[in-house]
Amino acid sequence: MSEDTDAGTEAGTDDAGTDDPGTANAPVVAVVGRPNVGKSTLVNRILGRREAVVQDVPGVTRDRVAYDALWNGRRFTLVDTGGWEPDAQGLQAMVSQQAERAVATADLVLFVVDGRTGATDTDLRVARILRRGSVPVVLAVTKVDDERLEPDTAELWSLGLGEPFAVSGLHGRGSGDLLDAVLDTLPDAPPDADVEGGPRRVALIGRPNVGKSSLLNKLTGESRSVVDSVAGTTIDPVDSLVDLGGETWRFVDTAGLRRRVHQASGMEYYASLRTAAAIEAAEVAVVLLDAADKLSEQDQRVIAEVVDAGRALVLALNKWDLLDEDRREQLEREISRDLARVAWAPRVNISARTGRAVDRLAPALRTSLESWDRRIPTGRLNSWLSDVVAQTPPPPRGGKAPRVLFATQADTRPPRFVLFTTGFLEAGYRRFVERRLREDFDFTGTPIEISVRVREKRSK
Ligand code: GDP
Ligand code: GDP
Repeated sequence: MSEDTDAGTEAGTDDAGTDDPGTANAPVVAVVGRPNVGKSTLVNRILGRREAVVQDVPGVTRDRVAYDALWNGRRFTLVDTGGWEPDAQGLQAMVSQQAERAVATADLVLFVVDGRTGATDTDLRVARILRRGSVPVVLAVTKVDDERLEPDTAELWSLGLGEPFAVSGLHGRGSGDLLDAVLDTLPDAPPDADVEGGPRRVALIGRPNVGKSSLLNKLTGESRSVVDSVAGTTIDPVDSLVDLGGETWRFVDTAGLRRRVHQASGMEYYASLRTAAAIEAAEVAVVLLDAADKLSEQDQRVIAEVVDAGRALVLALNKWDLLDEDRREQLEREISRDLARVAWAPRVNISARTGRAVDRLAPALRTSLESWDRRIPTGRLNSWLSDVVAQTPPPPRGGKAPRVLFATQADTRPPRFVLFTTGFLEAGYRRFVERRLREDFDFTGTPIEISVRVREKRSK
């Protein structure tokens, strides 16, 4: 029998509250505005380091990048919505689209207007969209480098978005007041991790050469040129925002994939570090496998890391375009032999090269995350369990069969169950319970942990 995936122990679970309090709950601030109004300059100012790329050329293609920002002890995620392609669709349409997307995904919109040119038609149109949306807006008027320009700022009350905050991203003038306003306006971070905002965090991992960089490129679908020019900086925007299946996802720790660091020396070492860091930061991992190549020990190790870390899992068999009949049959055998341990993980057959089925990653990610989040109410769990145990009682040990008294789901993300019993439950029986849980409650895509707590018998 293969190794079991559950880490059943005799110990209780005192590990409630495993969600990290760091950036997981951080509210999202989206920076919106026409090209060249000074968004990147302002973002750099807020981050306090030269990070976003500033370009003198309007309309330079740029990734949408997420940064972790800190002001007065509060964390938030700053999303610089770049990616302008003015020739493609016309500026108006692009800006509107960007604003709509920001309203849909952010907790606050920082709308940036150029104080030197004042409000343009495009700005007015964006303001209309922002007023309609339910997301709070803070209006920043940039390039107000000295007070002589300040009076003009007042005109922008007319946008109907409240007080215009005059700032100079270049010199820093007014940026403290602006940030105070942003934090005052931000909704408080939700106390419960289950309702956390922001895109869900995905780790894209796999051994070298399975196609991680190729897939990321396919998913972001944009030229990497600007990102490459960031390569010299010491601190990278580490995450990429990816629109997939009508939803925005935060692919964590992708700087190395974008920069193709793995092609440099020490790549094995780097790759394993990245894998661990990405899993740590993510909620769900896409483990990329090379369908054209034999599944390897290294593949197994990456998968095991995800399971051990308790993250949700999606398996993506890449390079499907290279498969012929023979290899396909071989692969089927390898899958049932080598991936039996994670037979519960959804599998998607894709090609990063042709784009085949990459959109099917989104439903797979959603399924795995739903399972990862799933909580079974205690009452329901126990009525289910008493049926299961009645049908198939735990085998006796030393003449006496342990009784299962009751169970509770102590945690989610991943689901953790505690069985209270009168005696030790063998690993085989714990696996049986896991199997039945999976059959009846559908935990597709998530590891499950089952632990056993033996209750001392009360003396009469
Ligand atoms: P983005 O396209 O909105 O991100 O705009 P950038 O941040 O790339 O800025 C566009 C141009 O405006 C650059 O040449 C910046 O140097 C300039 N700029 C940005 N902020 C200021 C500012 O506060 N004062 C002045 N004088 N120039 C600025
Ligand atoms: P990484 O090391 O995991 O980031 O892998 P890369 O993205 O650098 O890809 C490694 C090699 O596999 C490159 O030569 C890619 O062009 C190739 N490759 C990636 N995805 C596919 C695919 O879906 N089909 C084919 N035929 N080749 C692919």
